[in-house]
Amino acid sequence: MCYIITRTQRKGFWDVQFYKRDERNVHARLTMSPSQTILKKFFGFDSFRKGQEETIQHILSGRDVLCVMPTGSGKSLCYQIPAMLMEGVTIVLSPLISLMKDQVDALRQNGVRAAAINSAMEWDDVKPVFRQIRAGETKLLYIAPERLEGVGFREFLAEIDVSMVVVDEAHCVSHWGHDFRPSYLNISPTVASLPNRPVVAAFTATATHEVRADIVAQLDLADPHTLITGFDRENLFFQVEHPLDKTGFLLDYLKKFPNMPGIVYCSTRKAVEEVCSDLRAFGVQAVRYHAGLDDEERRTNQESFLYDRATVMVATNAFGMGIDKSNVRFVIHYNMPSSIDSYYQEAGRAGRDSAPADCILMFGRKDVVTARYLISQSDDSSAREASFKKLRAMIDYVNTSGCLRYFILRYFGEEGLDDACEDCGNCSSVIERTDVTVEAQKILSCVYRMAEKTGGRTFGQTVLTDVLRGSGRSAVKSLGFDRISTWGLMKSYSAEAVRRITDFLMAEGFLDVDDGEFPTLRLTGKARAFFKSGTRLLMRKYEEKPDRKPKKGVTSIARKEVVNEDLFEILRELRRKLAAGEGVPPYVVFSDKTLFAICEALPENDRALLDINGVGQVKLEKYGDAFLEAVRNWRSS
Ligand code: ADP
Repeated sequence: MCYIITRTQRKGFWDVQFYKRDERNVHARLTMSPSQTILKKFFGFDSFRKGQEETIQHILSGRDVLCVMPTGSGKSLCYQIPAMLMEGVTIVLSPLISLMKDQVDALRQNGVRAAAINSAMEWDDVKPVFRQIRAGETKLLYIAPERLEGVGFREFLAEIDVSMVVVDEAHCVSHWGHDFRPSYLNISPTVASLPNRPVVAAFTATATHEVRADIVAQLDLADPHTLITGFDRENLFFQVEHPLDKTGFLLDYLKKFPNMPGIVYCSTRKAVEEVCSDLRAFGVQAVRYHAGLDDEERRTNQESFLYDRATVMVATNAFGMGIDKSNVRFVIHYNMPSSIDSYYQEAGRAGRDSAPADCILMFGRKDVVTARYLISQSDDSSAREASFKKLRAMIDYVNTSGCLRYFILRYFGEEGLDDACEDCGNCSSVIERTDVTVEAQKILSCVYRMAEKTGGRTFGQTVLTDVLRGSGRSAVKSLGFDRISTWGLMKSYSAEAVRRITDFLMAEGFLDVDDGEFPTLRLTGKARAFFKSGTRLLMRKYEEKPDRKPKKGVTSIARKEVVNEDLFEILRELRRKLAAGEGVPPYVVFSDKTLFAICEALPENDRALLDINGVGQVKLEKYGDAFLEAVRNWRSS
């Protein structure tokens, strides 16, 4: 089938008309494919991202799809564009009301007829939505999966022409996934009960092999085209810091980027309270979010952040699921999460608009102790073992001197990666390194001598550090460690320094850890090879004293400087006003990335503005004049 898109505009929305090639000889007039035309006209983008076009084509050919793409990679367009091109209505099942609202707002801003029905709506509000669908005026209807439990709604679906059923966050259908939702199990029987089976398209950002197989089975996907684009988020800059003064580090960072919206994640409610009040005391517009606050405060704070009234959200991991704010420019972890899975999910809330964003993890040794204690409380020994394994990977991430991005990607099973991405905190050249070959030899020899002295027993870091620093405490003496050759070999080092180098040796695989609440260390084959080879070992330089001076090369935002920053602030304010007038979050008007591009290109007319990624026909008509005027005023000021 070949399509043409006509420019009829009714009540601010655009209608897409379909003509088969043989009905009207219009084929020759199209210079772009229908999906490309929609991409540019409605969404303002020039080209598809990886995986998008392929998925769209399979859907349009009538095939089910399973699409695994990372957060922020543009999954929504993969179904929104075919939904606009297919006759009938597409039903999108989405787990959260806030997500639906955001998506529908964004689509309507682009002139696409979309609607949502949620549990908070009265029947009087639902009725017109049904009417519009019956009249063929809605292309996408967002609903929560619970809605499928109502017989009346299922009957309604059977009456209308459903072209596609989209399952967003499809991992919720799987018991293996981390967010199982029983109501997702209603999807497949509902699809089966429709008079004509629609295309079923499933999307998720996180899916292991088991979860993928489960999605296909539970949703009864028919020979789906499966697309897995990988987990890399190129615009995110990963960095690990070991600051002795975390709040000082945070304040330095925020001083450097005063108006950039971002999230600071803390592991406890208490930490949220403390960090939030510290930031406020220094004049940062911060709000807090955790499960101990009442609903009203949580709602208000969340909204202040979404609408750019507050700059920084300080929160526990209770905040974030379903938050679609695309202009989060940084996610800083004040405490270390207990797995890379959680870390990547939380950090991944930065930079959904694909403009540069920072993901910084501030490490403190206390976080490890707390995490170990919590895991050791579990009665289920296999769950305990799995959790310790995940925690170990997280600790290794924090201590590695290698590429951070590739560390994460390897964790998720990606293969064939070169040594370094050249674009993370560890790869970037500003990081100073220090030669720890001699220290490593001392530490590893000490582990060896301690085992030798005790007939092969293993010990933890505390005793190891004490022996190396020549402690005379009874735990050291009673085992005879004050008489081994490595006792006191690192007398001149602080305990922190010895620990840091030992952590590094664990992360790099020279020491194996027998996990538990009190883990112990043993040498690996790699350590034995190291003794023989005499290779030099370099690790990231570490801090010995609090250092409150801003550091060089703290972030990617610093490196990829915003062009004409003052204009960016003017455009941001304009965007905020326009958005407030329409009751939508500012990033729905234009993304940060689009504003960055305007600051760089300084468009003088409609055509130049339309050339900018993110400016489509509808938005040009709505906001073009205001933004062009702002640029003109700025030029002449
Ligand atoms: P996901 O659902 O995968 O997390 P979204 O669909 O929310 O991601 O898209 C993330 C961001 O990327 C949005 O701001 C969206 O407008 C933008 N985007 C999507 N596709 C493109 C494209 N082809 N070109 C430029 N930006 C895009």
